[in-house]
Amino acid sequence: MYDALVIGAGPAGSNVSYQLSRKGFKVKMVDLKEKVGIPNHCSGLVDERVVDIVGGELVTDNPLTAEISTPVGSFSLSSKRMRVVDRVALDQKLATMAVSEGAELSLMTSLTEFYQQEDKVVASLKSKNGFERIEAKFIVGADGPASKVRRNLGIKAPRLLKSLQFDLSRKSDKVKINLDRRKTPDFFSWEIPNGNEVEVGASGSNSEAVVRDMARDCQVVRKRGGLIPIGPTELGRGRGFLVGDAAGLSKATTGGGLYAALNSGNALSGAIESGNDVLSGYQRNWQNSFGPEIEKDYRIRRLLDRFEKYYGLWVPLVSSSISGINRVGDVDYPSKAFLYALYSLPLRLPQALMEFVSSSVSS
Ligand SMILES: Cc1cc2nc3c(=O)[nH]c(=O)nc-3n(C[C@H](O)[C@H](O)[C@H](O)COP(=O)(O)OP(=O)(O)OC[C@H]3O[C@@H](n4cnc5c(N)ncnc54)[C@H](O)[C@@H]3O)c2cc1C
Repeated sequence: MYDALVIGAGPAGSNVSYQLSRKGFKVKMVDLKEKVGIPNHCSGLVDERVVDIVGGELVTDNPLTAEISTPVGSFSLSSKRMRVVDRVALDQKLATMAVSEGAELSLMTSLTEFYQQEDKVVASLKSKNGFERIEAKFIVGADGPASKVRRNLGIKAPRLLKSLQFDLSRKSDKVKINLDRRKTPDFFSWEIPNGNEVEVGASGSNSEAVVRDMARDCQVVRKRGGLIPIGPTELGRGRGFLVGDAAGLSKATTGGGLYAALNSGNALSGAIESGNDVLSGYQRNWQNSFGPEIEKDYRIRRLLDRFEKYYGLWVPLVSSSISGINRVGDVDYPSKAFLYALYSLPLRLPQALMEFVSSSVSS
């Protein structure tokens, strides 16, 4: 019997498999893909701290500026910590690390169903060789936003936003985020430099039209897409646990989920290692690590959705706090910049109001 059956060899699944295997647990990891990491849906924009975990050789670009546009104006943020990583290489590196610590990896193998007993989980896996029955003490759903493990555990799915990205054959030196909700009503569109290419993408309804427009007159090297979960779910039930996107742990403000995928794997493997009530241990570890940021991001996202029509006010407000925001700004902790702008509101509001009124009068 295995200690853990991990479904999905993305960053969350490979990291949890690596962490458990190196502590001596017997782990089986499966993925329905033929090759780990391919196809890849992600833009790979991360903070430097992710690079510290996964290795500098995966970095393909390091843009220094992010230009944020809204229907009423734009502002620029600067950061020395932004990195773009090769997402295929990242997935493959993490899976190799797990295997080198003893995890068994079966590709082209998918979970069909499982049930829980008092002391174990019994799962059915399907591969080209047919069906196989596997027993493990725990099952880990690292199977991404549309998680089958989550569904099987009876955990409510988060909202899932369809996202599309085209890689274009041209260079750029800055990240561009467009928050024009008239074009992308559910989220935003982005442009991210990646070596000799630029990744342009958008999320939610209308994303296809927006991305096609952004790619107009450019050579499209590849088209890809995926789902972005909005809002965290329960972390598990009984002997079944969820990590990464399966638990909706992407940031609801930016869609970034790599750091949370890695972190949730650490939190779960720590809980399995300490034994006893694994679910409570996992919830506790998650709350003591990255969980609060993911919850803050979800609350901020709902606030921004509600006050979207006041963009006209918050653009000058943010512009007047730029130097402070640059100081605290962090791709992994977007709430820091937001809270900075919020706390400095009384100080900045008069100036922002004046700019808002004068821009409304002149337009
Ligand atoms: C368009 C787009 C752009 C993004 N850009 C960024 C970014 O710039 N920065 C950032 O931090 N995050 C970004 N993200 C989010 C990031 O990609 C995810 O948060 C991250 O991939 C989550 O990792 P994961 O391991 O939880 O899930 P995944 O990477 O989705 O891995 C899940 C794995 O499970 C496998 N699987 C699924 N079902 C089964 C099954 N039944 N049986 C076996 N295997 C199964 C899949 O094949 C897959 O390999 C982006 C997402 C999208 C959609």
